[in-house]
Amino acid sequence: KRSWAERLKAGLARTRQNLSGLFGRRRIDEELLEEIETTLLLADCGVEATQWLMDALRRRIKKDGLTDAEQLRDVMAELLTELLLPLQQPLQVEAHQPFIIMVTGVNGAGKTTSIGKLAKYFQSQGKTVLLGAGDTFRAAAREQLVVWGERNGVPVIAQEHGDPAAVAFDAVQAAKARGVDVAIIDTAGRLPTQLHLMEEIAKVRRVIAKAEPGAPHEVLLVLDANIGQNAITQVEAFDKAVGLTGLVLTKLDGTAKGGVIAAIARRCPKPVRFIGVGEGIDDLRPFSAREFVEALLG
Ligand code: GDP
Repeated sequence: KRSWAERLKAGLARTRQNLSGLFGRRRIDEELLEEIETTLLLADCGVEATQWLMDALRRRIKKDGLTDAEQLRDVMAELLTELLLPLQQPLQVEAHQPFIIMVTGVNGAGKTTSIGKLAKYFQSQGKTVLLGAGDTFRAAAREQLVVWGERNGVPVIAQEHGDPAAVAFDAVQAAKARGVDVAIIDTAGRLPTQLHLMEEIAKVRRVIAKAEPGAPHEVLLVLDANIGQNAITQVEAFDKAVGLTGLVLTKLDGTAKGGVIAAIARRCPKPVRFIGVGEGIDDLRPFSAREFVEALLG
């Protein structure tokens, strides 16, 4: 099996090859800069981040008197790192016990899979974990969590025909009673346009706060990295409804172009707590700006 770094590199291959082709040119000229700009836009960077990067790149070319295209690779790596570094804020769960995480997202983003991976991640750090099967719409999602929990010795709080807020409440109570370190509460997938469902997760959040003042301590949005600028719409809508504190960016091993993270950095900056680089249980990594830039430009 390939390492996570290789899978991230494979996922970002297209963008990396496009940029490499340009940096392989001999001279910096206006045509080259326009092609870099187009490549960034095609890589999902979005207009704002692309503009920011191009302005900074042009300033550096002028200031340092750069003439050779190959010199731009290092400058671009530096600028991208500067852009993405503020998003690198690892999730610290030690401040509260239980530390309560609420997980949101649209269907298919990788929410259920990411919850399993997160549980495994915290367990591997010696922490006890409890899951709340708050996706009461899809029986399959609940089953998936319950089966996964049984296999890994992680208790799962679920109700057959429960109301999502009631499941969340029970999960918080159980987490407190059992003294677990981390409680991860799932919510059903929903689209930002489904206003009644957006109101529903706002209610789930309020009920969690009633069960434990100050909670949830982390509200995550799970985002598929392949959805282009829709990612911005999702971050803004979920942030408005529940106050996001972090993102999990999934499927960066697939055909993701990678630039969406730059767009997030400029348009709606939120800490990227983790990235998903595969379907396996260990395929979740804390986000590192340097590792990401290395995969994109190295
Ligand atoms: P949910 O509807 O948001 O709960 O999504 P699921 O967790 O069911 O995931 C949807 C699909 O995406 C499944 O086939 C997962 O295996 C897949 N998936 C989730 N995360 C990743 C990832 O990081 N990489 C890849 N390649 N697939 C993923």
